[in-house]
Amino acid sequence: MKISFFGAAGEVGRSCIMVSTKNTNVLLDSGVKLGQKIEFPKLDDDIVKSLDGIFISHAHIDHNGFLPHLYSSGYKGNFFATKPTIEIGNVMISDYIRISNPVDVTKKGLEEMSKHAKIVEYHKEFRLRDLSIKFIPAGHILGSALIEISDGKNRIAYTGDISLNRTRLLDGADIRSVRADTLITESTYGLKTDVFPNEKHTSQNMLKSIKDTVQIGGKVIVPSFAVGRAQEVLFLLDDYINSGVLPKVPVYVDGMINKVMRIHRHNVIYCRKELQSKILMSDYDPFKSPNFVVVEKKSMRNKIVNDDESSIIVTTSGMLTGGPVMFYMSKLAKSSANKMLLVGYQAVGTLGRMFQDGVRDIFLNGSEMKVEMNVDTFHLSAHADRPQLERLMGSIKGLRNVFIVHGEITKAKDLKEYASKKFEAKVPLIKEEHEI
Ligand SMILES: [Zn+2]
Ligand SMILES: [Zn+2]
Repeated sequence: MKISFFGAAGEVGRSCIMVSTKNTNVLLDSGVKLGQKIEFPKLDDDIVKSLDGIFISHAHIDHNGFLPHLYSSGYKGNFFATKPTIEIGNVMISDYIRISNPVDVTKKGLEEMSKHAKIVEYHKEFRLRDLSIKFIPAGHILGSALIEISDGKNRIAYTGDISLNRTRLLDGADIRSVRADTLITESTYGLKTDVFPNEKHTSQNMLKSIKDTVQIGGKVIVPSFAVGRAQEVLFLLDDYINSGVLPKVPVYVDGMINKVMRIHRHNVIYCRKELQSKILMSDYDPFKSPNFVVVEKKSMRNKIVNDDESSIIVTTSGMLTGGPVMFYMSKLAKSSANKMLLVGYQAVGTLGRMFQDGVRDIFLNGSEMKVEMNVDTFHLSAHADRPQLERLMGSIKGLRNVFIVHGEITKAKDLKEYASKKFEAKVPLIKEEHEI
């Protein structure tokens, strides 16, 4: 088998890897890279024409955002993903198209994309031409999958994005069922020093930080990815308010999070068992908690920022690259009584990363602004940290090759240094091909 890297090589974004046998070409993910400008995988037209199928690991735009482009440029094959990945993917892709309005994406292309979506069940091996494919829960977001591909001789496991930790919402990746001689792994937190603090500890510190602000009447903004982080944060806040450790203040939920929440609710079978039983066995449904106030109209936003009461606002986007969070931030950043909690990955070049790095003088809509509100960072990551990545590699029997992708180059290289001690490890560059 041959593996070709068209994106997420030495970077985070535009995940797109081709696996080829003599007769078959398939893609693992097909994402775009969001930043100052949008970058696409380095795929030539003749490669697109040669594709027999696309497997999507999960519904984040850096893994599925290139699909509408492919279908608009004439790709006629299917793409395969779990049910939540397809449903959440539709929401994420519509949002991406609405915001970036790419000229090469056509209405027809979007229709073709919907027509060619094929649902895959976890753990059920299926065939595409001369390949066997299996999706395994990856613990990253709802419906996320680690994908195994075999031609009968070699077996590749591709992590997509992975997390081994169990959260309020999801079980960790099912790494015990992974069989592979070649691993293509993400390395978002691949650095030796990327060791996440204990989750309980983090939640407790977060609680204290929120309480400090609420007690002085301030407002807390939690910029969050619509999928995964938002639900985790909301469940956490709900627990704290219900148990009385956090004063009862309104928790405003604004933007795409609401739609994604509904998709989670009707795909609850993909959530952690305990959560399913909680909903089944009691009248309490954390997805519809009375503590949450859905921001239904834009006009509500002015009231939220102007009223005197303390509140918590959970909204998109997670890295402050757009979305309702920009409004809340622009109105609330000038007061030191307010606070922003960064709870997810902040990519280089984003406003979120600048805040994280201590930058307080920013340009917003062309004018200079001094940020007085406090900024706190908490690791509630949906990715594996370095110890988890090491555990993943160590758990796969017979593993020989490791390709490290989906990480800033320094992180990928640092993880390679570790992996090289036991495996044939590489950090591939864009357009590199490797025979296994
Ligand atoms: Zn992801
Ligand atoms: Zn990703």
